[in-house]
Amino acid sequence: MSGAEREELRSRVAEANARSRRGRGHPELVPVPPGGLRCAGCWEIKQRRYGALERGDQVEAVRMAEAMGFHLRYAHPG
Ligand SMILES: [Zn+2]
Repeated sequence: MSGAEREELRSRVAEANARSRRGRGHPELVPVPPGGLRCAGCWEIKQRRYGALERGDQVEAVRMAEAMGFHLRYAHPG
């Protein structure tokens, strides 16, 4: 990853963070243990998304889908 890409990613993460502050935290930024079999970030985002879908909360469901996108790029690059 080049320096410019890293900078762009950083600003996107900051942007997602700023949006999340109005919500319920930022699960997309939970660090991943190296070689770990579980990812708390993935798990939490999925739980929130399932919960939102069960409630019929489309806004939250879309927000969690976006959060997963950011999370995958941040925590699971490559
Ligand atoms: Zn993850």
